[in-house]
Amino acid sequence: MSIKQNLNTIQQSLPEHVTLVAVSKTKPISDLMEAYNAGQRIFGENKIQEMTDKYQEMPKDIKWHMIGHVQRNKVKYMAEFVNLIHGVESFKLLKEINKQAKKHDRVIDCLLQIKIASEESKFGMSPEDAAALLQSEDFSALKNVNVTGVMGMATFTEDQEQIRQEFNLLKSTFDSLKAIHSNLKTISMGMSGDYQLAIDCGSTMVRVGSSIFGARNYN
Ligand SMILES: *Cc1c(COP(=O)(O)O)cnc(C)c1O
Repeated sequence: MSIKQNLNTIQQSLPEHVTLVAVSKTKPISDLMEAYNAGQRIFGENKIQEMTDKYQEMPKDIKWHMIGHVQRNKVKYMAEFVNLIHGVESFKLLKEINKQAKKHDRVIDCLLQIKIASEESKFGMSPEDAAALLQSEDFSALKNVNVTGVMGMATFTEDQEQIRQEFNLLKSTFDSLKAIHSNLKTISMGMSGDYQLAIDCGSTMVRVGSSIFGARNYN
């Protein structure tokens, strides 16, 4: 199937309240343009350099989402244009995003990444640390960032029950954080293999790559 057909099939299967992020990391601009021409406007990348290169070459009505792990010293390269940063997992990083956003007179939307997977290799804050962050005075002093939700990645496993429990944990974390910080609206969870399950568990934003663009080649 073509990229356009894949996109249409997925879009049609999503409930109206769920936003699709087309994860285009490692893919050439020609593939992204095929998705763009089929109507897709939100693209997700996991490397700041690659996202910046694509931003420069592509139409300016695209919303670029940074979905990967963010190094503080690289925030400056995307501060001018990034639409949503999914992987915020420390106050230090949020502070740097605030600083760089201010230089461009912008307010950048961010999601707090919550560690829901059992794997050591996955990044993220504990639900308790996220709650403490949102309640801190240091956080309320940051005027150029807006925390709009949470993001999480489930363990890489075939065990659907485990994945469901992890998604449920992210949903309940979102609910308790929203009681502190009523701005929250987004739960970014679900990828190609598990986005339907994620939606069942309350996801409002899915990050789908290989089901749209085909398998990635990392050579
Ligand atoms: C690569 C990536 C995805 C998309 O993965 P697919 O399995 O190709 O859909 C989603 N989220 C994050 C954080 C990723 O790095």
